[in-house]
Amino acid sequence: MSKAILTDVTKCIGCAQCVIACKAVNNLQPDNPRRWQKDDGLSADNWTSLLRKPDGHYVRKQCRHCLEPACVSACLVGAMRNTEEGIVIYNKSICLGCRYCMIACPYGIPRFDWDEPVPYVRKCIMCYPRVKAGKQPACTEACPTGATIFGERDNLLETAHNRLKKYPNRYIRKIWGEKEIGGTNVLYLSDIDLSFLSYDKELDEKSLPDETKIAMNSVPFVFIGVGALMTGLHLFTRRKNRIAQLKREKEENEDE
Ligand code: SF4
Ligand code: SF4
Ligand code: SF4
Repeated sequence: MSKAILTDVTKCIGCAQCVIACKAVNNLQPDNPRRWQKDDGLSADNWTSLLRKPDGHYVRKQCRHCLEPACVSACLVGAMRNTEEGIVIYNKSICLGCRYCMIACPYGIPRFDWDEPVPYVRKCIMCYPRVKAGKQPACTEACPTGATIFGERDNLLETAHNRLKKYPNRYIRKIWGEKEIGGTNVLYLSDIDLSFLSYDKELDEKSLPDETKIAMNSVPFVFIGVGALMTGLHLFTRRKNRIAQLKREKEENEDE
């Protein structure tokens, strides 16, 4: 049975305890924003973020742990992998750095860590080691209002359906993640439209992996080289900047 998270936007007070707990448990560094970063608060060191929306709404963003993940089918070497718990994890030791997973994800989740000397894609892993040890993810444990909760997917779907029935005027009558692109293990109830989490697109129920495979098979292998080249250029620029900085420091010391 799939493990899942249900986030109820109507219960979120925007306290960011989920964000803080994620950083602490996963040992994520203070964020180092990049100019080209998407403006959603996610980064290689921010695996979940809180989006502020009109009328006092706050929406958590994190990996949706798709039942049929496009990132997994796009990965040529199996660095992205689905587990029996339905949690999508990543193995950096075999990652090529091609970033197909980043292109394939319909929610724009995986981020590249430019500060690592080797290719390193990062995203929420639904606290896989904790879940394996019988615990719940840090974010759901930290939430003081029960706005984001953890459990078996079937049970959380039942909870969500019950809330929709009990409070027909509180929510948009939809469970985000129940069916789109084959379903996801991170589900949402909300009183505002959440299409902004998927590039303002209403995703249909068709799963993405088959389409992704066709698309990826038609991409020439030379693009993997482009990924590697970009990484190489980044490392070269970083080294050049570091040398310039050391030179400046040396000159300053000599002036004193
Ligand atoms: S949301 Fe994106 S990164 Fe997460 S499992 Fe789905 S396709 Fe992969
Ligand atoms: S499940 Fe774990 S890794 Fe994912 S956002 Fe929550 S705390 Fe972070
Ligand atoms: S901890 Fe709970 S209430 Fe606070 S921001 Fe996160 S989801 Fe919202």
